[in-house]
Amino acid sequence: MSSSRPVSGDPAGGRLIVISGPSGAGKTSICKAILAQLPRATWSVSATTRPQRPGDVPGESYEFITREEFDRREAAGEFLESAEYVGHRYGTPRKAVERALADGCYVVLEIDVQGGIQVAAAMPNSLRIFIMPPNHESLRARLEGRNTEAAEQLAKRLGQADGEIAIARDSHCYHRFVVNDVLDTTIDEVMQIVLKEHLQT
Ligand code: ADP
Ligand code: 5GP
Repeated sequence: MSSSRPVSGDPAGGRLIVISGPSGAGKTSICKAILAQLPRATWSVSATTRPQRPGDVPGESYEFITREEFDRREAAGEFLESAEYVGHRYGTPRKAVERALADGCYVVLEIDVQGGIQVAAAMPNSLRIFIMPPNHESLRARLEGRNTEAAEQLAKRLGQADGEIAIARDSHCYHRFVVNDVLDTTIDEVMQIVLKEHLQT
């Protein structure tokens, strides 16, 4: 993190940015780019019970924990939000987020729609953006191209996409829906939304 002025927007000093969307929509690609471009930005490392997959870096992509450990930490109130997604648990560690916000950082949460709705209630000052694929076929092509899921897991993820989009729309918890057609254009669009939001607060 660089040391410029703290960002504004959250009573704690920083600004929470939620990026949600179906698996394969491009969330991780977009988050990496905005983290590289924003000053004082940090990524929240989620805890998950899903097995590690190729490309994951433990402690950076996720903290990989057992379901028992997840349940224990959830019962102790250690997660800001949590969800079950295609058979696995995911949660955002509360303390790390609160610390980074208190430090005046942008904190980027890449979480599913169930989590986004919980964050909207818990932290209403957060900025929440939902990433959409241009269509179902490109979503399939991207997930297949990423080559990280077994066939059954890939089918489950694709099968969830329409429902996730509908829940996101019905929830009215997202400030913006952004279609990720050309990645560089999407990154510019998300950056514009974040910076405009910053200026307004
Ligand atoms: P998510 O985090 O939403 O599951 P990823 O960022 O992992 O999605 O993107 C899924 C795959 O699609 C990756 O292989 C990524 O390189 C690719 N991808 C992301 N955005 C685009 C885009 N606009 N056009 C084509 N491929 C993309
Ligand atoms: P993946 O297994 O592909 O890394 O993530 C699957 C889904 O879980 C994605 O929609 C991702 O955004 C979401 N996810 C990752 N971490 C969290 C988290 O801490 N909380 C919630 N609610 N969802 C998460």
